[in-house]
Amino acid sequence: MKGRLILLVGMLLSLFGVSRNVAVSILGGKGIHSCVIEIKRGTYSLSSNGKVYVLVGGDQIKITKGLKVEWGDSVAFNASNINLIGGDYVNHFEIHADNHSYKFDDDLRVFMLDNRLEFINDVDLDHYVAGVVEAEAGYNLPLEYYKLQAILCRTYALKNLSRHQHEGFNLCDKVHCQVYHHKCGVNDVVKSTASTSGLVVVDHDLELINTTFHSNCGGQTCNSEDVWVKPVSYLKSIKDTFCRNSTHARWQKTMSKSNFKTRYTQNQPADSLSFNSLVSLCQDTARFPKKSILSTPLTKIRSNLNLNSTFFSVEPLGDDVILYGKGFGHGVGLCQEGGIEMAKKGFSYVDILKYYYTSVFIVNQRALLFFKEN
Ligand SMILES: [Zn+2]
Ligand SMILES: [Zn+2]
Repeated sequence: MKGRLILLVGMLLSLFGVSRNVAVSILGGKGIHSCVIEIKRGTYSLSSNGKVYVLVGGDQIKITKGLKVEWGDSVAFNASNINLIGGDYVNHFEIHADNHSYKFDDDLRVFMLDNRLEFINDVDLDHYVAGVVEAEAGYNLPLEYYKLQAILCRTYALKNLSRHQHEGFNLCDKVHCQVYHHKCGVNDVVKSTASTSGLVVVDHDLELINTTFHSNCGGQTCNSEDVWVKPVSYLKSIKDTFCRNSTHARWQKTMSKSNFKTRYTQNQPADSLSFNSLVSLCQDTARFPKKSILSTPLTKIRSNLNLNSTFFSVEPLGDDVILYGKGFGHGVGLCQEGGIEMAKKGFSYVDILKYYYTSVFIVNQRALLFFKEN
């Protein structure tokens, strides 16, 4: 009976389960030369050079240059690579290096690259998603918002699995992919990720969407084509009434007129440019970041002048100008502060998603495979 039950559960998991590991390069760029890895929970097998060692909670191994492994007083060997594989349902470990400690879920690979240690965390997708949501969304937010962010981070991860294929892993832990510092330590994030397990966002062609987001749109999001090159069916400008009183809704910056004009016209002949035409270009506060003068689009101005957004107007004041701006970020896709406000007001993650992304659907990734094959 017990055997049949296990078989049934196994079949159900294979039908509806969505657990899947992703290989994430962690602690990259920290230049770690030696570390101690401590097993925090579960049993691990350490395989190297054809030998297998079993490690349990509390065990520590020391890894130094040349991939020398020391375990207690009696085990020491040189490995070509190290695989730590968890044998229980819940496994996690901690890496101690350079006076810092980092906890991670699931499995770990260690190898040498350019004279330093490289770490790849082979981690369950939802464990990874929870870690990313903690790093990218922040703390003390409503559950519905965490659910939304979990679905977006999962969609991003699955859409970008081959981003680092040539380097032997799926995703890096930096802004280039998604920020991932360590195992998620926020209960609400873990819960929200688990309750949306398997859910992803697709467009009308059943393609995983580009889940771009920014901090605050200032009251109007941008069309994809106005910030980047291509129009995208679900990245359309919308009026946002939810983010107007949030932290990054407004900004102000004062600079000298000459500084403003020079930076505006970087690498361009500025003689023909009148100050008034510059001011009037920025006066219109509708959000069109591609608007340009001397073929310098506002997106370029934003980086030249280090501004929070391309959504601003200019007022001359003596030798200076004051820039009055709205929002923070590129303005495409989800406005995070608006989404948080919606969640606080009682909107569901589905409402929020459909407000910021035009004509998208939430589906289970398994169902997606089924529809695509048929
Ligand atoms: Zn990356
Ligand atoms: Zn907004």
